[in-house]
Amino acid sequence: MVVRLTDAWTELLARRAGNTETGPYAPPVAELLGEMAAAGVLMQSNIKFNGALVLQVFGDGPVKLAVAEVRSDLGLRATATVAGELPVDARLPDMVNVGGGGRCAITLDPQDRRPGQQPYQGVVPLHGDRGEKLHRLSDVLQHYMLQSEQLDTTLVLAANDQVAAGLLIQRMPIKGEGNLGAMTAAENEDAIGRSEDYNRIATLAASLTREELLTLDVDTILRRLFWEEKLLRFAPRQGADGPRFSCTCSRERVGNMLRNLGAEEVESILAERGNVEVGCEYCGQQYHFDPVDAAQLFTEPGKQPPATSRVQ
Ligand SMILES: [Zn+2]
Repeated sequence: MVVRLTDAWTELLARRAGNTETGPYAPPVAELLGEMAAAGVLMQSNIKFNGALVLQVFGDGPVKLAVAEVRSDLGLRATATVAGELPVDARLPDMVNVGGGGRCAITLDPQDRRPGQQPYQGVVPLHGDRGEKLHRLSDVLQHYMLQSEQLDTTLVLAANDQVAAGLLIQRMPIKGEGNLGAMTAAENEDAIGRSEDYNRIATLAASLTREELLTLDVDTILRRLFWEEKLLRFAPRQGADGPRFSCTCSRERVGNMLRNLGAEEVESILAERGNVEVGCEYCGQQYHFDPVDAAQLFTEPGKQPPATSRVQ
């Protein structure tokens, strides 16, 4: 599977650059976030999960948290919280794993989650089996997918300020596509690294450079890597059916968030600033609550709003 984000990616970067509070991402952060967005699309398309796949990287460096979310319709958004200075050519360990406490979490949040139902979450460290710090997100995710799915996986990721791209190669379960039940997890695990066909394809895939991934179109990439293999190409998902930037924030959701914060906290913000301003960190949308709006938030449904309320 190959993903190449262009418009969705540049829109995401432009929205961040337009945020006067944060300003644009430093290049290493943009690169990490682009790789996360590309990986999120690959993983979502691979498992076809009905809901949001959320990739988070967090830890003990200047990048406190980086998040990429891809929904089943391939609508995606991403953001990063950065505090402090970054080395110019910062790699993954310099950004989120300075003291070795960095983690990567993959969350599957179902579309119609029942009340009380917890989303599925897997968490992996940012170091390998021998404790060595991993320098690339692709190494972290490859490791995660190998463990969680018991299937050999090769992942190549790259991003710059124009393109976020990725290539995913995964061995299909031996006894037929989509027929995971036919083979036990242990049998599948035994097969890791044993398939000659997979190993040959994976070696070819891993030879793809980041520069090639960023600059070549999909057909050229496939021809260059697998010119000796028989290739069948599925119709690409693009346009309205493909990956695109979209944010799920709304005034209602922000209102719920303020309700959870509690009346006391909201009143103290009002006392200090006169109104409550909440900006969405994903898309930059500003939500404004004046004292009347805020009072409405804490009016129980069914009760009459205070006499001072106005209808919007
Ligand atoms: Zn938003």
